[in-house]
Amino acid sequence: MSRIPRIVILGAGYGGVVTAIRLQKHLNYNEADVTLVNKHEYHYITTHLHMPAAGTDKPENARIDISKLIDEFKIDFVKSTVAQIRPQDKKVILEDSTLSYDYLVIALGGEPETFGIPGLKEHALSIRSLNSVRYIREHIEFQFAKFKQEPQRKDYLTFVVGGAGFTGIEFLGELADRLPKLCREFDVDPALVQIINVEAAPSALPGFDQELVDYATTALKAKGVVFRLATAIKECTEDGVILANGEIIKAGTVVWTGGVRGNRLLEDAGFETMRGRAVVDSYLRTKEYDHVYVLGDCSIVLNEQGKPYPPTAQISIQQAEVCAHNLIATIRNSSLKEFSFHNRGTVASLGKGDAVGIVGTHKIKGYKAAMMKKAIDVRYLYIIGGIPLVIRKGL
Ligand SMILES: Cc1cc2nc3c(=O)[nH]c(=O)nc-3n(C[C@H](O)[C@H](O)[C@H](O)COP(=O)(O)OP(=O)(O)OC[C@H]3O[C@@H](n4cnc5c(N)ncnc54)[C@H](O)[C@@H]3O)c2cc1C
Repeated sequence: MSRIPRIVILGAGYGGVVTAIRLQKHLNYNEADVTLVNKHEYHYITTHLHMPAAGTDKPENARIDISKLIDEFKIDFVKSTVAQIRPQDKKVILEDSTLSYDYLVIALGGEPETFGIPGLKEHALSIRSLNSVRYIREHIEFQFAKFKQEPQRKDYLTFVVGGAGFTGIEFLGELADRLPKLCREFDVDPALVQIINVEAAPSALPGFDQELVDYATTALKAKGVVFRLATAIKECTEDGVILANGEIIKAGTVVWTGGVRGNRLLEDAGFETMRGRAVVDSYLRTKEYDHVYVLGDCSIVLNEQGKPYPPTAQISIQQAEVCAHNLIATIRNSSLKEFSFHNRGTVASLGKGDAVGIVGTHKIKGYKAAMMKKAIDVRYLYIIGGIPLVIRKGL
């Protein structure tokens, strides 16, 4: 290659933004042309989205302009939607143009996994972007306004959350904090409001420490959440959900948090995938092309037992750091680094001032865990924007 190599990064979520920032920091002038493509001009802090979705925080607080994170003299930012990836031609088709690359980083995130349950895609809401959470927040308020017009329709005040994984539990915590406020605002008797969690597995937070699961479910039950565990949703309709046992729950709102799959563009491009997530080698490159890296929710990394790690921001950030290293190493003809995940712990919030988590080998709960969650958020802001961003957003 006589000209300087072209690196194209698709997606400016956790994986894409951290890769871009690392490249901008470590690449020398004229070592590579780096282009970052994202469908919005902003990055969003996905790990906060359960709050604006419930209405306990403003969507703006989860939003950061990409121009504030990257140095546009070093990284070209293209605001566009990726329509197709053509790895055989080393091209990416955007909605309005085409990009050629020498190295490609795909970090386009995930999509809700509906497991083929009829009606979920059409009728359930999902927490996946700033626009989707604005919609959920407005929808929830609208249910209260509609109930005031049709007080016989108690189903408007029934909120079903499908899935009791981390996202479901965090959203339930916020919803349970928010709905009493909406009851006061709309003069609605709180006894009429129902928050029902439906989860197919026998436990909430499947696979998590049992003592912490018990703490979380007890805390949420105390706020009024009803858990229907070991209960599958058979169908979602305009009017609510139908459970596997045939029971119908009429509800004005169904929010589905039951699973994540990879972005469909990867399957369409012909990469080997499992639930839409590309299988990558230990350097994070696809099996088919050693100049194509895949990170975050659209990649799959297996643990020592051969099981996929759950898709998280934590793993996406660590992958991005290794990916940036490997891109620079490839350009400089030096050694690549293998990816191995260092689990620093997990904290799930349960609403204001409460959370559960494991940090290192320590179990934490209550206010201490909520503070730890805040510290994790601040650390991320520091990684992507240094002290100025921490001061602007995090304190
Ligand atoms: C409510 C909630 C709470 C969570 N809490 C935690 C937590 O506490 N800890 C944790 O580790 N993880 C958490 N997660 C998971 C975490 O947010 C994801 O694993 C992480 O965002 C994945 O990063 P990513 O870079 O793969 O994708 P994303 O961060 O989703 O970024 C993908 C980017 O690609 C863009 N994009 C998508 N399609 C296109 C297209 N066609 N063209 C152009 N751009 C496109 C999107 O706009 C987005 O900017 C949570 C998730 C949710 C929903």
